[in-house]
Amino acid sequence: MALPTEAEIIEALRTVQEPESGKDLITLNMVSGLVIKDGNVGFSLEVHPDKGAEMEPVRRAATNAVSEINGVASVTAVLTAHRAASQNKTGASSKAQPQKTVQSTKQSVAGVKNIIAVASGKGGVGKSTVAINLALAFNTIGLKTALLDADIYGPSQPRMMGLAGEKPSGGDGDKLKPIEKYGLKLMSMGFLVEEETPMIWRGPMVMSALQQFLRDVEWGDCDIMIVDMPPGTGDAQLTLAQQVPLAGAVIVSTPQDIALIDARKGLNMFHKVEIPVLGIIENMSYFLCPNCNHQADIFGHGGARAEAEKLSVPFLGEIPLHMQIRETSDGGAPVVVSDPASVNSEIFLSIASKVWALLEDDAANTRPPPSIVIEK
Ligand code: ADP
Repeated sequence: MALPTEAEIIEALRTVQEPESGKDLITLNMVSGLVIKDGNVGFSLEVHPDKGAEMEPVRRAATNAVSEINGVASVTAVLTAHRAASQNKTGASSKAQPQKTVQSTKQSVAGVKNIIAVASGKGGVGKSTVAINLALAFNTIGLKTALLDADIYGPSQPRMMGLAGEKPSGGDGDKLKPIEKYGLKLMSMGFLVEEETPMIWRGPMVMSALQQFLRDVEWGDCDIMIVDMPPGTGDAQLTLAQQVPLAGAVIVSTPQDIALIDARKGLNMFHKVEIPVLGIIENMSYFLCPNCNHQADIFGHGGARAEAEKLSVPFLGEIPLHMQIRETSDGGAPVVVSDPASVNSEIFLSIASKVWALLEDDAANTRPPPSIVIEK
């Protein structure tokens, strides 16, 4: 079957009107972050932050219009309000967002276009689970993706990817080859030390291990690299945040107050080193019963969304506490690859599309060119 083209998708979106103006989505320049891979289509619709609910029928109409194109296997359309949020960055109410500055001491990683940190203020909130599913979701929407597991205190990505016990092989010269699975390039401290081995990491050790992973691995061309950060906001995290040329950070939190306080600390840490926070994700947001699909807000769902609003940081999405998410990650095939059509996968795909739209927006508007530092 023929695969859908960008032109066909744009034509389909021209048939969908925004009700207030009566104009179509393309004329209004509302579509961004369009990605097409093997018939899977993803895009964002940019809307005013106050109009999210009103625009839901438009999102559905856009999804239906694109679904009807021959060869389209799935459509992920998300509403984003980031233009308004990024305007806040320079506006009077922007106390939470730093101005972007050239990170002159950081060396970019050859071939890698965007590096994003996935961080959390404390452990156990599902940061690594979110990082891997998000990375796989980026890959699903057609972006070449790598994951660097820098969670030195408990590198869990090899286990979640079914790669425990694997060792990376040497590439050209002294470089290591990342291990590839499900289309993702992966490098982890866990390939070098056992997950259970307690490690005491001091600043310089963290630095040199990380430098090696960034510089001495054959990453090749990647649109996105996700860095699964160690949990917390101590020295090691600060050092990582300072050393990696990050395009931005995503903070994972659970809805409980205590986790949100920790999340705020995470946010402040990135502000300190002038890295934009792309948004907050609420994990274990509500309990979804695997038998009857009943939703129970056991942790007081919605805390992260409220916190994000207060801090003028985009809210990226809510992930339920769901048996499928735990079982698939623990089984070595995260939900985004083992059950790509599930509601849980759709949530990760939608968050990935939002993050990609934010990055594209940043690239178009404000990001300075990477600086090149020659080390003596
Ligand atoms: P962290 O990296 O923050 O320490 P992990 O990603 O290792 O946390 O998650 C801790 C445990 O919680 C793992 O067993 C994982 O499978 C589980 N988990 C994480 N998120 C969810 C979720 N949304 N639903 C169910 N289980 C989850």
